[in-house]
Amino acid sequence: MTDTVAVADGAPDVVTPLPYRVRHRLRETADTVTLDLVPVGTALPRYRPGQFSMLYAFGVGEIPVSVSAVASGGDAIAHTIRAVGKASEALCRLRPGEVVGVCGPFGNDWALGIRPAGADDPVTPLGTAPGEDLIVMGGGLGLSPLRPVVLHALSRPGFYGWLTVLAGARTPHELVHRADLMQWHALGEAKITVDRAEAGWTGPVGLVTDLLRHAVFRPERTTAFVCGPEPMMRASAEALMDRGVAPDRIRLSLERNMRCATAWCGHCQLGRVLVCRDGPIFTWDQAAALLAVHEL
Ligand SMILES: Cc1cc2nc3c(=O)[nH]c(=O)nc-3n(C[C@H](O)[C@H](O)[C@H](O)COP(=O)(O)OP(=O)(O)OC[C@H]3O[C@@H](n4cnc5c(N)ncnc54)[C@H](O)[C@@H]3O)c2cc1C
Repeated sequence: MTDTVAVADGAPDVVTPLPYRVRHRLRETADTVTLDLVPVGTALPRYRPGQFSMLYAFGVGEIPVSVSAVASGGDAIAHTIRAVGKASEALCRLRPGEVVGVCGPFGNDWALGIRPAGADDPVTPLGTAPGEDLIVMGGGLGLSPLRPVVLHALSRPGFYGWLTVLAGARTPHELVHRADLMQWHALGEAKITVDRAEAGWTGPVGLVTDLLRHAVFRPERTTAFVCGPEPMMRASAEALMDRGVAPDRIRLSLERNMRCATAWCGHCQLGRVLVCRDGPIFTWDQAAALLAVHEL
């Protein structure tokens, strides 16, 4: 077991990059990989589902990336990265054995600090009461920050009510966490759709919100976790509310152009909100007004 880094006053130091080694690299799609990282020496504090890191590709740059898995008993963390520019491309090129700088954990988490009576799981609480139904809706790479929610829920059989995972991608080739999705589908927990079918695809074709029509859940006892492109999150929130889920029971992870992650540079500002400081997770009643402002 490695030590956890702390600054002089005892508060965790989240801004000094620590070296982590790539233990495993999985190619998810043509432009996306999942890196399992383990600390070379000192470990960062334990991540909670929904939090993110600043990953530093040495000599290239540093970018925010959500954790796509947090080990329950160790210091390993996973990140799923799409190559869209210089830093993300450099990170996606990393091979097992190579080293990356990691700062974190940053941001709030899917639990939003809510601790309902009886839900005092010390490791990865989701901020929902025992027996509540969970709906997880992921669009494209948006499934990655949601993966720790599903892995946690599945690790607690009997604690939650019904779990429904609804995942969508543009094409079958763009589905991430495919092995997990197939396993969750086999368990009867996941439904998967694509915008455009390709040869061999026998599943549904359509939007992830279409899948919600057939989902079975108790709206007044449901918490929804949503992440994906903004139009998908807006449509998902509206579809959930049409089914009777209250706006404060719908949680979303917002992604904004972000540089510092420490509320210093203002790049991720949305109105009065700094996504790095106040998010990235918001309830729909908080996020709706922010997302309604065009080009904000
Ligand atoms: C809280 C948070 C969590 C994130 N989690 C993930 C994740 O799990 N996996 C992942 O692959 N990416 C994630 N991102 C997005 C990732 O940070 C950007 O793709 C990355 O910063 C791009 O940097 P770059 O140097 O590779 O590309 P750049 O050369 O900086 O940009 C390439 C293109 O991406 C756009 N872009 C840059 N930053 C962002 C951003 N933050 N959001 C949207 N578009 C952006 C630019 O406008 C440009 O069009 C997350 C972002 C935030 C804020």
